[in-house]
Amino acid sequence: MNPYIKTCKNYYCRREFEARRSNNEYCCPEHKSKQNNRIARNRRNRIKAIQNILVKNMLILERLSKRDGVTVKWEELAQLGFQYKYHTHQVLTEDKSKWIQFYYTLGLLKLENNNFQIIKP
Ligand SMILES: [Zn+2]
Repeated sequence: MNPYIKTCKNYYCRREFEARRSNNEYCCPEHKSKQNNRIARNRRNRIKAIQNILVKNMLILERLSKRDGVTVKWEELAQLGFQYKYHTHQVLTEDKSKWIQFYYTLGLLKLENNNFQIIKP
């Protein structure tokens, strides 16, 4: 079998073609370009979906932080659609005993009994 007979890696093509070089993966430049654009678009969409969750988390914390007291129950966060596992960064507390999870501009510190304190840096 000719080692340069390959299957085009374009998702919608997948036809066999005779490659000029061993590292050719696509039957034509157009299929290479379209496949690379598809990969980039999918990557952007996955990032955008997570970014939307992060912004929503931040907006929930902003809203809750305006009322008296900055302690909230987990149930209330969950009910508002807060997704704890998506955060932008973490910062250690001053005594280095706990991590504060941040959602862009606001942080959350886990307390006892499913309570959280909203942290404004
Ligand atoms: Zn192709």
